[in-house]
Amino acid sequence: MSLSLRFLLFTLLLPAVFTLQAKPVVLHNIQLVDVERGTLVPDQMVLIEKNRISAVLPVTRLTEYSAATLLDGQGRYLIPALWDMHVHFEGRDLVEDNALLLPVYLAYGITAVREAASNLAPVVLKWRSEVASGERLGPRIFTAGRKFEGVGSIWDGDLEIANEQDMLAGMDMLQQQQVDFIKITENALAADLYLKTIKEARRRGMLVSSHVPYSTSIAELADAGLSSIEHASYLLRLGFADEQAIATAVRQGKMSNADASAHYANGFDQQQALVGYKMLAEKQVAVTPTLIGGRQLAHLADTDHSHDSFLQYLTPQFTDNYQWRINRMADETAEQSAARKQRYQLIASQLPYLQQAGVLLLAGSDSAALNTYVYPAQALHDEMELFQQAGLTPAQILQSATLNGARFMQLEQDYGSITAGKMADLVLLQQNPLQDISAVRQPAMLIYQGTVYDRQQLDTLLKKAAERRQQLTGQHQ
Ligand SMILES: [Zn+2]
Repeated sequence: MSLSLRFLLFTLLLPAVFTLQAKPVVLHNIQLVDVERGTLVPDQMVLIEKNRISAVLPVTRLTEYSAATLLDGQGRYLIPALWDMHVHFEGRDLVEDNALLLPVYLAYGITAVREAASNLAPVVLKWRSEVASGERLGPRIFTAGRKFEGVGSIWDGDLEIANEQDMLAGMDMLQQQQVDFIKITENALAADLYLKTIKEARRRGMLVSSHVPYSTSIAELADAGLSSIEHASYLLRLGFADEQAIATAVRQGKMSNADASAHYANGFDQQQALVGYKMLAEKQVAVTPTLIGGRQLAHLADTDHSHDSFLQYLTPQFTDNYQWRINRMADETAEQSAARKQRYQLIASQLPYLQQAGVLLLAGSDSAALNTYVYPAQALHDEMELFQQAGLTPAQILQSATLNGARFMQLEQDYGSITAGKMADLVLLQQNPLQDISAVRQPAMLIYQGTVYDRQQLDTLLKKAAERRQQLTGQHQ
């Protein structure tokens, strides 16, 4: 590290880091991962001024920048920092337990999260602005705030609506809070109101993400203007020629959700599904697969999680929430458990088809206190490895965790690739991620919000999170 850099020593919360001052910094001797083309560009240098990339040049031009502060990338691999496009910060009694995890995201190379609604919405909105202003160390937060649901939803903290008037009032409130997108789920919301909510969000120029109710077909959601479907498990319905007929029957009360679910358990037709994926691509509906949650549940019985190293950042109070899903699965028979594993494989096998059809895939973990063994930050790396196992190329996977998120949020001008003019949210990796996506597990350096963190400083963030977890554990008892 260059001695000419000014080291700023922060108190307690922040480790020793150095902040990029007016003087430009040149990160040289790097191999640049061009995520748009999926190629490696050797011998590059990146000029950074404050928090933006001002130029990307071949390293032969280094002599022209003798006045800049030099950072040697040691031949490592530079990628745009990762975005987790589906997380939840939830738990009314878990505010501090979630807060301590924010710097952990940075240590995992993740500089943005899309928070898909929670019962901590006011807190999350506060964190969003604190991160943006630099008061709080953590990833940039895009949040839905509270999500729309019908009256009597099983989820805590929803915006429960009974009619169009309620929906419009809720939309006004969310718009006033300047949420980054609208989220809708299907537990108790009637089909017509569900579709109206999507249309109203789009009419107001907002992005809208949702699950898929049994009472609407995926085509109906797409036609209403849905921006993204959360969880690829829902897409299996596209493999049924009678999907619309089933949806209509459920809507008319002629079929129960349980019967619809049973209907979709067998008879998936791959060719039929491909037609549906083309439709999604044409109507520009993105998909966040969130494989890791289903994978963890499918392997619950044959995995011992008690020694998982990530538990050092999670309070017992946080992991107590895991029990909810564990209990729900307690009576599962051997057949049911085998069917669950098979279903996971079928869902995962759809990813290359979706990619080929031209659907925008978003890497998202769905990490949340309620989502059993889906660890915050780490689960995005897990998810990316599952994408690789499912048959996506490392380049496609990197896109899903960088460029695609920026495209989806309509922030491609500022994020998503290593390009002059964009924000300098950068991660230097030890290994080549285009060979094996597991390389994202080893960030050697992070540049974010005008600050450079080397590995030691990233480890300090983790150490402080573990200490904070210890403190909170003591307080809860
Ligand atoms: Zn979720």
